[in-house]
Amino acid sequence: DRLVSATDEPDEKQLESALRPANLDEFVGQKRVRQQLSLVLEASRLRGRSADHVLLSGPPGLGKTTLAMIIAEEMGAPLRISSGPAIQHAGDLAAILSSLTEGEVLFLDEIHRMSRPAEEMLYMAMEDFRVDIVVGKGAGATSIPLDLPPFTLVGATTRAGLLPGPLRDRFGFTGHLEFYSVEELELVLRRSAGLMDLAMTAEGFAEVASRSRGTPRIANRLLRRVRDWALVHGVERIDARAASTALDMYEVDARGLDRLDRSVLTALVTKFNGGPVGLSTLAIAVGEETETVETVAEPYLVREGLLGRTPRGRIAMAAAWEHLGLPAPEHAAY
Ligand code: ATP
Repeated sequence: DRLVSATDEPDEKQLESALRPANLDEFVGQKRVRQQLSLVLEASRLRGRSADHVLLSGPPGLGKTTLAMIIAEEMGAPLRISSGPAIQHAGDLAAILSSLTEGEVLFLDEIHRMSRPAEEMLYMAMEDFRVDIVVGKGAGATSIPLDLPPFTLVGATTRAGLLPGPLRDRFGFTGHLEFYSVEELELVLRRSAGLMDLAMTAEGFAEVASRSRGTPRIANRLLRRVRDWALVHGVERIDARAASTALDMYEVDARGLDRLDRSVLTALVTKFNGGPVGLSTLAIAVGEETETVETVAEPYLVREGLLGRTPRGRIAMAAAWEHLGLPAPEHAAY
């Protein structure tokens, strides 16, 4: 339930789908991926064939699901959605594959989490549009070949490096999604505000965008909170001050750090003089599990150049003192 979490919360799905761009032109940013993808889709339309398989990689909340939906839309094809964790047996995958219609787009989120046997079945399906279904067990087992209609697989993964080589190689195109710039997030927010019928100034958009951690999902979520705040306070036009007052109240600071991030950073700077300090000691100091500090707070702090990981422990970078409004000591790392 973190406001600045990049993963989607279960009750958020519907709100999000209302804000999803429906085609490549409406999709903000990721210029290179957009251009390349547009070419892949155009070429397959000209050839009158289903598009090559597409792999989308990148951190959560940057638009992988949205792009899969756009691919289906642009190809005029139906979309089937499933995910790696939902496919634990080869049979689960066989059931999905055998019910696909010609040209259908199959989106497999978290494809790196599929089971090994399913993965092997997928190799053949992707390459030859065929699967071998094994019936029975032991010596009496037989395999029945099954032809599949041509389809387009869109796989999504947070880390392309986690995929086995043979699977990665079977994608005709890999798009790596990058974090969005503040300017791009302003465009995402402008579009969302239009759909939500919100009046907002350019500075208001900039304020929300700069707190959104480069992630459209977070930007849209913060926008909804700002909207609530404005509604309750009778603010009709949201400017920078309204946006910052609202987000300060939700404890999302000017750089998008929330309470957990700030408490980790503050402990590192004030209790350990900037480190180096071991992860578990740091976690105890903020009263959190080691894993929470490592997986929830640290990645963004490292990305922002506020915290460093060294063999001797965690250290605060000079920017950390600056961000907390404290003078950086001589020894601070840059
Ligand atoms: P996850 O891997 O966690 O499922 P994702 O990468 O699939 O995340 P999406 O669900 O596609 O992310 O996008 C999250 C939200 O951000 C959606 O509401 C979508 O509308 C919005 N969004 C993502 N990318 C863009 C974009 N380029 N332009 C406008 N809105 C976007």
